Amino acid sequence: MAILNILHYPDERLHTVAKPVEKVDDQLRTLIADMAETMYAAPGIGLAATQVDVHLRLIVIDISEDKKGLQALINPKIVEMDGKTRYEEGCLSVPGIYEEVERAERIVVEALDQHGKPIRLEADGLLAICIQHEIDHLDGKVFVEKLSRLKLSRIVAKLKKNERKSM
Ligand code: ZN
Repeated sequence: MAILNILHYPDERLHTVAKPVEKVDDQLRTLIADMAETMYAAPGIGLAATQVDVHLRLIVIDISEDKKGLQALINPKIVEMDGKTRYEEGCLSVPGIYEEVERAERIVVEALDQHGKPIRLEADGLLAICIQHEIDHLDGKVFVEKLSRLKLSRIVAKLKKNERKSM
């Protein structure tokens, strides 16, 4: 397994729209294992392939306390959503920034698991928020872009300043 490099906002590659996975094979399962390792090491609760510069529709999520709840969703599609909720989100591609954004409260997702088997998942709470956040990445969207233009420009300025400091 390997730790992959995570792209940082405002890297343009984060705006790439990911393509559907055509074949669930060992190569893809290796990518899933690497993405999981990268997510745990960060640490984070979700990671989209887009964030590691692989533009395939694949996300990994684990919101459990003991890191034993890994879920890989391949070609995930939200087929139902209702309600509204707000949550202070963070993102491994936007380090140090936490902002409240609005999402659907409950969702139903269809996807393939790592064996290529179709699954249907009902989610609410943090899991629903996390899945929506990660699917946004596959569509080339980053959560801070849901904020006002002014807030976003302040965040970009802060990120640039932090990057200079760490060099
Ligand atoms: Zn993110």
